[in-house]
Amino acid sequence: MTVGIWILGDQLSMTQTALARVIASLKKPPVILIESLRHAQKRPYHRQKLILIWSAMRHFAEELRRSSFPVTYATADDFETPLTAWVKKNGISEIQVMMPSDRPFFQYIQTLKLPCKITLLPNNQFLWSEEEFAQWAKKRKRFLMEDFYREGRRRFGILMAGDKPVGGKWNYDKENRQPPKGKKLKVPRAFWFEPDEITREVIQKVQSLSFPTYGNAEPFRWAVSREGALQVLDYFIEKRLPNFGYYQDAMIAGEETMWHSLISPYLNIGLLHPLEVIQAAERAFFEKRLPINSIEGFIRQILGWREYMRGLYIYLGAEYPEKNWFNHTEPLPDFFWNAEKTNMNCLRQVLIQVQQTGYAHHIQRLMVLSNFALIAGLNPQEVENWFHAAFIDSYDWVMQTNVIGMGLFADGGILASKPYASSANYINRMSNYCQNCQFDWRDRLGENACPFNFLYWNFLERNRDKLKKQGRLSFILANLERMSSEELEIIRKKSTEYLRNFL
Ligand SMILES: Cc1cc2nc3c(=O)[nH]c(=O)nc-3n(C[C@H](O)[C@H](O)[C@H](O)COP(=O)(O)OP(=O)(O)OC[C@H]3O[C@@H](n4cnc5c(N)ncnc54)[C@H](O)[C@@H]3O)c2cc1C
Repeated sequence: MTVGIWILGDQLSMTQTALARVIASLKKPPVILIESLRHAQKRPYHRQKLILIWSAMRHFAEELRRSSFPVTYATADDFETPLTAWVKKNGISEIQVMMPSDRPFFQYIQTLKLPCKITLLPNNQFLWSEEEFAQWAKKRKRFLMEDFYREGRRRFGILMAGDKPVGGKWNYDKENRQPPKGKKLKVPRAFWFEPDEITREVIQKVQSLSFPTYGNAEPFRWAVSREGALQVLDYFIEKRLPNFGYYQDAMIAGEETMWHSLISPYLNIGLLHPLEVIQAAERAFFEKRLPINSIEGFIRQILGWREYMRGLYIYLGAEYPEKNWFNHTEPLPDFFWNAEKTNMNCLRQVLIQVQQTGYAHHIQRLMVLSNFALIAGLNPQEVENWFHAAFIDSYDWVMQTNVIGMGLFADGGILASKPYASSANYINRMSNYCQNCQFDWRDRLGENACPFNFLYWNFLERNRDKLKKQGRLSFILANLERMSSEELEIIRKKSTEYLRNFL
């Protein structure tokens, strides 16, 4: 029996299950990596994402060759043709591939007609297996992230002193999430790279593609190998992690990355493993005495949010992406694809940044982009499609729960306990975007009223009954009750006009 290993573009790790079992053997099995043009046309992907994946695949192929693997690197239209040719040429009787993280790709693999058997091996790029997560979820009525996170801390022994959390508290968020106002913040520069020859070749390929793609191809500054990703991680721990917690939610025009780690593109394709990242942050606490609020806040993102989102993605099943609890039907405005077309400064700043880099930090994604989509009543599936295409780190497993669940509350509260909806007040408090905007963040009814204000109240009014039943918004709904019918009429009119003009 001859085994061959197929490595997917988001499984670029020497320790992934299919490679881990043969890495020490003297005679290495044949491996194949495939750049499929048809796959790249599923949506108008960000050019930087295509460059990242294809360049990282090519670098990984080199690494495999250096480790004596016989590597076939195919650039093709589809997957089936090069797989079939490779199977025949190498007399392969069984293809082994690690279970894809994304459900649609798993389903696609099952439709392949290949001249040999194909075996899926467990995916080890996450800390919780599918079965372990199901065991945790099965026992509860509500899936509280905080409960899941604490279970993760205990299970993996992270930031624990015996059975108690280090420092006595599980969560230090009271000290985190400070607004950027009234301070002269000096943000350390991000750790970027110049493209090498392999990346330059891929940039050329991406620039000459004849199908629709999105965003700028250059400057391309992301890491494309494990070595580069580890440098980004080390730099983050040294320079950014100490302040990560304090300004985790802050947004400053021109400061695209703040103190964030910029590691999601690497974690999501296997160049970094979540456990090594968590352990590196934990070491920084014990060895360098970095502030616990930053360390704990950062670890919670990976051990908590990331695992929770992926666990729920699998657990909640294939219908979850279709959810639309508010029955929102407005189409995605053009300005999501072309930032110049919006005159709201916050949206413009974030969308220009996404166009240029494929990246925005969590609060930009949640409280600017998806908050807008939620209160404007945009169709959740259209919004999900946009996020999926536009971001460098987007994959089905991370998109569905983040956009449909967390961002748009389209699941009716399976994941979040209340919608992340806010008026301009939040954006003004947590950013300086409102300073240079033609709209007035304080105004909700006048000529210069910020659309975040009237759309917000319009959203609450439209969904008053649903939100009442849901329970967590009674304070804000009481304010809605106090509004006069004239005020509500103006809000309705302004919202309709806005949606007519911009959507
Ligand atoms: C609407 C929306 C869309 C999102 N789309 C994506 C996406 O396509 N890909 C993606 O990886 N994350 C996504 N996230 C989660 C989060 O915003 C990004 O992981 C984070 O901004 C990546 O930047 P960073 O590496 O600098 O993160 P940091 O702020 O430095 O956080 C560290 C790490 O924590 C993990 N993390 C934190 N929150 C989440 C979360 N909610 N879900 C999953 N991982 C999390 C990421 O791996 C991240 O790299 C989305 C969130 C929202 C609200």
